[in-house]
Amino acid sequence: MSLSKHIKIAKRNSTITPRLMGWLSSHGEVKLEDPVTTERVLQILAPSDHDRSGVFHPSQLYECERKQLFEFDGLPKLRKYDPTLQNLFNDGHFRHLRWQVMLLNAGILTDIEVAVSIPELRLAGSMDGANFVDGWMFELKGTSQFNTVMQKGAMPAHIQQVHAYLLASGLEKAIIVYEDKSSQQWQEIEVIRDEEKIEEILSILKRLNTAIDSDQLPEMLDECKNQTGRFARCPYATVCSGFERRSEVVEAVAASRGIADGLGDEG
Ligand code: SF4
Repeated sequence: MSLSKHIKIAKRNSTITPRLMGWLSSHGEVKLEDPVTTERVLQILAPSDHDRSGVFHPSQLYECERKQLFEFDGLPKLRKYDPTLQNLFNDGHFRHLRWQVMLLNAGILTDIEVAVSIPELRLAGSMDGANFVDGWMFELKGTSQFNTVMQKGAMPAHIQQVHAYLLASGLEKAIIVYEDKSSQQWQEIEVIRDEEKIEEILSILKRLNTAIDSDQLPEMLDECKNQTGRFARCPYATVCSGFERRSEVVEAVAASRGIADGLGDEG
């Protein structure tokens, strides 16, 4: 391996990994070791009716903009019963919790599930964690493409996502940890705030906010017009076509709900 590649890999694993290796070697198990961490974990695991409407989310800014507006308006999502998918979500949820508790216990993070927002841009979300003493945020990704990450570095969509958090938090640096879902090996990758990426985020948010203020909907994706690609997985596929204004689709959904309620009353 070349010297430059050694240096690149060493730089990648310099913030979290050395301390975490020491902590794992001497502790080994992830436990709730203090009342503050216990309280935070109970908050995260408590049943929640958290309403995700009314704001845009950093983790979704690069998704279909029409879909983001449907979510902003709180339109009902068509959820297919898929036990494997639900199991996948649960696996991801607890992977995050394990890392968050581990990094808190190891003194590597100072807080977890850190809420950030920019109200004037209608942006709000929650960072996986942060170290406010050293000034960086933490983002965890479980991956089945660990070898690709090792070779190519952080995935573009993840670099973009952490830039939305950097914009909202004012921090200059993110550490993305990729964990191999099958072996639990991990790789940390440093992302330094890049103003070009921040401009990209701002222009997406500008488009989304303009659509809100002018009652517009972005164009339907071509693949969805043909009922291919993302159409099959989209929870708004059944309400997506045939509307040009947000208010039209909101009214149509409200009317169909009224009809459904009326049918229920008759029974
Ligand atoms: S069906 Fe396609 S175009 Fe419509 S909201 Fe979903 S992803 Fe976007």
